[in-house]
Amino acid sequence: MQCKTGAEHIQSLRDGRTVYIDGKLVDDVTTHPAFRNAVASAASLYDYQSRPENLERMTFQPRDNACRVNRCWQMPRNHTELVERRKALQAWAQASYGFMGRSPDHVASALIGQRMGIEVFEKHGPARAKALADYVDFAARNDLFLTYVIVNPQADRSKDWGEQAEELVAQIVDEDTTGLTIRGAKMLGTSSIMANEVFIANLQPLKPGEEALAFCCALPMNAPGLRVLSRKSYEAHAVSVYDNPLSSRFDENDALMYFDDVKVPWDRVFVHRDTDMCRAQFHDTPGHVFQNYQAQIRLSVKLKFLVGLAHKITEAIGTTGMPQVREQLGALAASAGMVEATVAGMEAAGSMRGEFYLPNRHMLYAAHVTTQELYPRLINLVRDLAGGALIMLPSSFRDWANPELAPILRKTQRSANFPAEEKVKLLKAAWDAVGSEFASRHTQYEMFYAGARFVTTAHSYRTFDWAAARGMVDRLLSGYDL
Ligand SMILES: Cc1cc2nc3c(=O)[nH]c(=O)nc-3n(C[C@H](O)[C@H](O)[C@H](O)COP(=O)(O)OP(=O)(O)OC[C@H]3O[C@@H](n4cnc5c(N)ncnc54)[C@H](O)[C@@H]3O)c2cc1C
Repeated sequence: MQCKTGAEHIQSLRDGRTVYIDGKLVDDVTTHPAFRNAVASAASLYDYQSRPENLERMTFQPRDNACRVNRCWQMPRNHTELVERRKALQAWAQASYGFMGRSPDHVASALIGQRMGIEVFEKHGPARAKALADYVDFAARNDLFLTYVIVNPQADRSKDWGEQAEELVAQIVDEDTTGLTIRGAKMLGTSSIMANEVFIANLQPLKPGEEALAFCCALPMNAPGLRVLSRKSYEAHAVSVYDNPLSSRFDENDALMYFDDVKVPWDRVFVHRDTDMCRAQFHDTPGHVFQNYQAQIRLSVKLKFLVGLAHKITEAIGTTGMPQVREQLGALAASAGMVEATVAGMEAAGSMRGEFYLPNRHMLYAAHVTTQELYPRLINLVRDLAGGALIMLPSSFRDWANPELAPILRKTQRSANFPAEEKVKLLKAAWDAVGSEFASRHTQYEMFYAGARFVTTAHSYRTFDWAAARGMVDRLLSGYDL
């Protein structure tokens, strides 16, 4: 049987989900001007993988499944399988030039990572472990697009989560023989408007007494009572593909999720009233490593694109040959190369965990801490190379259609190497990537998507081989006396 197609994915989103934007309920996310192009971009990923020439590279056949599904669901058993899986993830990232951070492979990576550590769930309880294993199996066999909400709304950071104003943070307000009832909010379900289901968990530390907040479950996006409150749509504000080639098509959206007494059946509950298990499901399994490994693979694609963009900007304004500019381009290229190298490094230095092969944990966190600082610096370097060229641009594609303006534009938008129309096209793409509101959201994303710096550095601290590093110092000191 054929694997999932884009048309099937689009059809699956017409499910009566409750999404709000600009004060109104959205009738159909697949046709609404705020979302339709991003939905089409997501759907195109499934069409891409189902093309005969891509099938082997992008998909695999789960045992006893009629259809092939994306390799993001494959649990690698050796280095070769990890690399094959990465190549499929890279190919999907290339479709959006790395600008769709929450393509379906992100949460799938989190889920297979948690599934690989099923014994952690067994300790929590056999029924919960069975629910998780069955759910991952179900999502994989149907090649579902999942989003997740694993972080709480900021509100008052000087207080613990359990001390926030009543019913702010999503929590269990009732339970019976059929399941749980959830009330409250979770922060920023990126891609939720175009996902099939949402995985809800609690990654931030909880303390004893906060058991009502300590749950994990999954719900279809049309679950009764699940309200999705979209942020401003950059897609809706894009002028045209020519003017905003990225934000018009790859605005994957972020949305607050409000659970208005949502019922969750027991077979969808994976963690139940256990504060430490909320941590363990990410960190004692390979879940957190796999979700962030996907993020670094995607980022390596995006950085290569941005470095290419920087080079073309310098060509457009005739500065490529200048030694200082080459130095900056060399520094940018080194950053992109470093991220690509860390991905290969964490694969090569990976290790077995039971029957599965995992990327190197500390190298992943090292990459993470480094790249959340690198990204805004790299964006600044690209802006620095461009100067006012990013701003001195026609207001929109319509200016070219005005016979009075077109000759002036051709004269004033001169470039060292490109015709005026091409230069404008390039610089509009550059502004969309580094300066627009969409670009600014991307900087915030790369800085925060997996935690603020105090969180990511703590992961690096926790996973570094201090014994080896300190041992070298001890060896030096023990080799001589006063
Ligand atoms: C574009 C975007 C998309 C996102 N998508 C998703 C998603 O799909 N799903 C999801 O679950 N989440 C998502 N998030 C949320 C993301 O996981 C959080 O933003 C991230 O974990 C940081 O948490 P926070 O925003 O509450 O910031 P905070 O943790 O509050 O940090 C903000 C700043 O406050 C300070 N600070 C706060 N607390 C402390 C402390 N204890 N010690 C020291 N300093 C402190 C630091 O200066 C820090 O930089 C997204 C975020 C963004 C920006």
